[in-house]
Amino acid sequence: MSEIKIKKNRCNLCNKKTNINYFECKCGNNYCEYHRFPFEHSCNYDWKQTNKQNLEKTLGEAIKKSNSLSI
Ligand SMILES: [Zn+2]
Ligand SMILES: [Zn+2]
Repeated sequence: MSEIKIKKNRCNLCNKKTNINYFECKCGNNYCEYHRFPFEHSCNYDWKQTNKQNLEKTLGEAIKKSNSLSI
């Protein structure tokens, strides 16, 4: 992961000037208010994987907690 990200205040999809109202996606690109959602710009960030990992982490901590309580 050594790619240099150049910040530009333009939507990466429609090239519209976004000024201060740009949204940086997890994939590292900026998008306007219309294209900020992952499904609007065919995002290459693995959202499914992130959600799954978060879920497993949350579940794991919940299980740990319940175990320590029952002991
Ligand atoms: Zn846009
Ligand atoms: Zn994205």
